Amino acid sequence: MDSINLKARAKINISLDVLGKRDDGYHDLSMIMQSVNLCDDIFIRKTEEEGITLKTNISWLPTDGRNLIYKAASEMVSRYEIKSGLFISLRKVIPVCAGLAGGSTDCAATLIGIRNLFNINIPMKELMALGKELGADVPFCLIRGTALAEGIGEKLTRIAPFPKCSILIVKPPVNVSTATVFKSYAPEKVTAHPDNEKLIYCIKKGDLKGTCENMCNVLESVTIEEYPVIAEIKKFMNEKGAMGAMMSGSGPTVFGIYRTYYSAISALKAVKEKFGIKECYVTNAFNIFE
Ligand code: ATP
Repeated sequence: MDSINLKARAKINISLDVLGKRDDGYHDLSMIMQSVNLCDDIFIRKTEEEGITLKTNISWLPTDGRNLIYKAASEMVSRYEIKSGLFISLRKVIPVCAGLAGGSTDCAATLIGIRNLFNINIPMKELMALGKELGADVPFCLIRGTALAEGIGEKLTRIAPFPKCSILIVKPPVNVSTATVFKSYAPEKVTAHPDNEKLIYCIKKGDLKGTCENMCNVLESVTIEEYPVIAEIKKFMNEKGAMGAMMSGSGPTVFGIYRTYYSAISALKAVKEKFGIKECYVTNAFNIFE
């Protein structure tokens, strides 16, 4: 095998709670993460000439050591003494700096892709430890599906697959820095915290209504204050029939959960018309059945 194609899927947060600040500056979190079928396409090919070449359709995205794909590939090359060079092409679809773990999922797909391309015998546990060094969300992007993520996001417990639904994803055209959102997080401003045990129970029962009613993200308190459009989009999605709508991660992306594909598509059209936002997608949950 000389080349491999990979799908790098985005994630949304069904819940996000900040439990406290750690001595190393990170925060302890408790969140339910869900993979979705909105994805980037990655192609990796072996080359005779040495070195890593990364090309992408987004002109302003770095293609050197600042890109998580490049970082993942260099790590694999040096750790596992890979002799050939690599040509990697990335077709970016997942909105960037959006709270959808776009960079982390590209990173995870690259780790898996290189492992498979060179038939390297690396247990998942080892790949996850390497992934954690590259980014807190990378271990989840390696296991995918539905999981409770604790610690800085790396302690993962798989939970039951997400109930069947359609998901409308809307990324307003504002830039949010994850680090700044966490820095500005003030627990005293938070009025509600997620009940993750209840959410896990609802997901397990296939109770979509209960799941939607219990979705909660404490970081909305920070990002919505700065960008009220997030709250406006949530409200509008609910008016257009969403069973629940929430910000993902540190934002600014908002997602709405719809019972049917048709209701999600009609809400997408309405959102585009009202807010003039280009980055709108209808997708669904990517589940792992074990
Ligand atoms: P998270 O939800 O994990 O906080 P995010 O969706 O908010 O992630 P990303 O899209 O992963 O944010 O991008 C954050 C930063 O990472 C950007 O500044 C971007 O330049 C950089 N980056 C590095 N590699 C990639 C990549 N492959 N795809 C997207 N961004 C990347």
